[in-house]
Amino acid sequence: MLKDKSAVITGSTSGIGLAYAHALADVGVNIMINGFGDADAIEAERQKLEAKGVKAVYSAADMTKPDEIAGMIADAQSKLGGCDILINNAGIQFVSPVEDFPDAKWDAIIAINLSSAFHTIKHAVPLMRKAGWGRIINTASAHALVASPDKVAYVAAKHGIAGITKVVALEVAQDNITVNAICPGYVLTPLVEKQIPDTAKARGITEEQVKHDVLLAAQPTKQFVTVEQVAALAVFLCQDAAASITGAILPIDGGWTAE
Ligand code: NAD
Repeated sequence: MLKDKSAVITGSTSGIGLAYAHALADVGVNIMINGFGDADAIEAERQKLEAKGVKAVYSAADMTKPDEIAGMIADAQSKLGGCDILINNAGIQFVSPVEDFPDAKWDAIIAINLSSAFHTIKHAVPLMRKAGWGRIINTASAHALVASPDKVAYVAAKHGIAGITKVVALEVAQDNITVNAICPGYVLTPLVEKQIPDTAKARGITEEQVKHDVLLAAQPTKQFVTVEQVAALAVFLCQDAAASITGAILPIDGGWTAE
């Protein structure tokens, strides 16, 4: 049923976003990838997606810029014929105690991790209504449900994503469109790898201790969640079997938020 649908996935040049792109391409969905990185590496990923027999295009839209976001959704319409599936996934992290947290980092995290989802949804919903079907999936985080110290902007943004998810789910509930948030625990992607040195500095411990005593301390399974597990949940949410799941904030966190 997903064959020939089109998906826009923000922040899909690496990590969880790239895994969503591959998992959806595997079931026949045409893909628009987005995000930053080395141009050759992005083109290589685009070609790998096309090798799965789907259309794959790249948008360089910056998720801090509302006009570029509007342009990205318009491009999806002109290049892929619509935006049936929207995955808001772009995200950055910065770790610091609140009193030292730089204003510019707060603004960037709120723009990329929270406001970009408002802008994509605003432009994608009319296309989904026109198509009579849609799926919106927001990558939130266990930090949409619980907090950790030193992550004031990230935790605020992810709690905000949970709010956007619930509001829009209600607004489109009778339009054959579902809106859900996936809340991963720790997944070993560049985003997490980058925060290990900062957390080590902030807490005065080694990077190895951060990995085992801070990150995995939160996950009762003592395993990192994998990008493939997160992507499989997204593919399920796109299926007819998931049509009654909407407005849900879904943890995939090795038991973290059960504690
Ligand atoms: P990642 O660093 O591998 O990927 C982030 C993506 O966002 C990249 O493609 C990057 O280019 C893109 N991006 C960053 N700034 C952008 C901008 N201004 N405009 C467009 N794209 C931009 O990280 P990831 O771990 O795969 O994170 C993806 C999402 O998953 C994020 O929203 C993150 O908060 C969330 N998440 C991650 C984890 C984890 O443990 N890795 C856990 C829970 C939630």
